[in-house]
Amino acid sequence: MQVLDGKALAQAIKEELKEEVDAIRQAAGKIPHLAAVLIGENPASQVYVRNKVSSCEEVGFRSSLIRRPESITQSELLAIVTELNEDPDVDGFIVQLPLPKHIDEDAVNLAIDPRKDVDGFTPVNIGRMTLGLDAYLPATPNGIMVMLERYGIETSGKEVVVLGRSNIVGTPMTVLLSRKSSPGNATVTLCHSRTRDLKSHTLRADIIVAAIGIPEMVTADMVKEGAVIIDVGINRVDDASRNRGYRLAGDADYAGLKHKVSAMTPVPGGVGPMTVVSLLMNTLQASKRRG
Ligand code: NDP
Repeated sequence: MQVLDGKALAQAIKEELKEEVDAIRQAAGKIPHLAAVLIGENPASQVYVRNKVSSCEEVGFRSSLIRRPESITQSELLAIVTELNEDPDVDGFIVQLPLPKHIDEDAVNLAIDPRKDVDGFTPVNIGRMTLGLDAYLPATPNGIMVMLERYGIETSGKEVVVLGRSNIVGTPMTVLLSRKSSPGNATVTLCHSRTRDLKSHTLRADIIVAAIGIPEMVTADMVKEGAVIIDVGINRVDDASRNRGYRLAGDADYAGLKHKVSAMTPVPGGVGPMTVVSLLMNTLQASKRRG
């Protein structure tokens, strides 16, 4: 089995980005600037945002972290979004999800200027992506597309089954994979919690993208010999043998699948680092557009 090493690939792409930023600096051009908004103390969100900010530093971008407590009001958060929309110094920004329950995530997303939406979550970018126009593509699905391309995994004419229909992963993944482009041109089935007989779908798949959020749910009996598994899930599973009391597990049963599939992403070190790199690529694009 080929391990689809997102960590190594992300590192290689970061080197490429760093070279480009160095060239911009030498030409006295504008250094890309990403801002991240983090609300509350969600431990996973803190890790994700920390990775994003430190990755910016690695490639020579500027980054700003705006932290606010869980008790922030909707209007206070919307005011931060407006400020970032209008700040000429900021090329792109993200509002880390999930937001506290009392905040309307859709309202916050709709307030983000699509030109600075480097997460690719706003309706304008989703719409442009769907029409095949130039857009900021959602970070995780785009990171997966880059990974498939760089690893030379053929998608044209393949049966792809996407598990999970979230707006940030599963649904845009189906759009990108079925587009008339390369990678793309796949025949895509989107499964979710109401899908009947999930296994009948996964058994047909040449490629499975699992974005469900249930640890190790995709098992060897559900997968055909030689399939490719892209495991998006990042789940904390209690593990008393670890110092921190948990381990990270994907949505796929890596140990059970590794002798059956042809290629698979590990968790951690698979899709996660590609998501961060995709965000950096969008930020560089945003910075270039603003000139
Ligand atoms: P959501 O919780 O938003 O969506 C989960 C989806 O899985 C839903 O569509 C749900 O169906 C479906 N689902 C739930 N149970 C089943 C089931 N038994 N059978 C089939 N489908 C099911 O999750 P996200 O898309 O935000 O995230 C998914 C996973 O990916 C999580 O573990 C998350 O941590 C991880 N993640 C990783 C990222 C990375 O960079 N690697 C980035 C983003 C997320 P329904 O719609 O019917 O409820």
